[in-house]
Amino acid sequence: MAIQKATVVGAGQMGSGIAQTLAHSGIEVTLYDLDRSAVDRGIKLISTSLNRLVSRGKTTDELRLQLLDRIIPATDFDRTQDTELVIEAVTECMETKQRIFAQLDQICMPHTILASNTSSLSITELGSATNRAPFVIGMHFMNPVPIMPLVEIIRGLETSNETFERIQILSQQLGKTPVEVKDFPGFVSNRILMPMINEAIFTVYEGVAEPEAVDQVMKLGMNHPMGPIALADFIGLDTCLAIMETLYHGFGDSKYRPCPLLRKYVQAGWLGKKTGRGFYRYS
Ligand code: NAD
Repeated sequence: MAIQKATVVGAGQMGSGIAQTLAHSGIEVTLYDLDRSAVDRGIKLISTSLNRLVSRGKTTDELRLQLLDRIIPATDFDRTQDTELVIEAVTECMETKQRIFAQLDQICMPHTILASNTSSLSITELGSATNRAPFVIGMHFMNPVPIMPLVEIIRGLETSNETFERIQILSQQLGKTPVEVKDFPGFVSNRILMPMINEAIFTVYEGVAEPEAVDQVMKLGMNHPMGPIALADFIGLDTCLAIMETLYHGFGDSKYRPCPLLRKYVQAGWLGKKTGRGFYRYS
């Protein structure tokens, strides 16, 4: 049966995009974050995205209002009791995600699917924090969620075929193309993308070129729509560092060591576009 009620945990750039996409296909969504200001920020991101779509004639004002009506802000898990699916999109940290999964496992109905939008972390390990590993799965959307067509679907060791099929069907209903990949650090997308971004940052760190020059080379020379340094800022430098750490520790291979400059920027709180400063400055 098609999913009608879902909860998104984490109202950041990914969580808000996922909530918008679910609501667009008629699903009632509870959007949860730690406090009201974080949830409001998420709702604001959705409103801005919808306003842009209306101004470009891609949706109507009536549909925009209907869609916003389907998203219910929340700061506690009360409403998750009757949800059929939870998609977790909080900060890329195993400890935080496991704590949330353990909590949800206690509150949600026994057959509720717990999906994670993690970019790199083990779905099997997330499942081990619950008593419902067959209902735990990776559902990795791309940024910006309403626009990007791919969803990587990752089974943990114990994920059931039924859970996999329901998430595959849901992804198609959302207008996305699901691609199944195995549960290894960074899956496919970030095992390939993130070392390239890290290497781009190394070229800046070693003084080979300025960020603008690196991005120009990759855009004009390799036909990338966005240069890797600008993309790192767009993804979030904290997320990029967390993914590199997962690859580095997960494979135990020095080729994945995060660039010290990336680490320094994260320590400074320069997380990219979302904080107004990364390799570039944003107003
Ligand atoms: P973000 O920093 O924009 O948002 C994270 C949100 O999680 C914040 O609103 C924060 O308040 C909330 N949060 C943190 N701890 C929480 C908790 N205990 N309970 C509830 N909410 C909590 O990050 P993002 O870019 O949206 O990334 C979220 C997830 O999506 C990460 O796992 C990331 O790896 C993954 N992801 C990111 C991208 C990307 O391009 N940024 C792409 C695909 C997947």
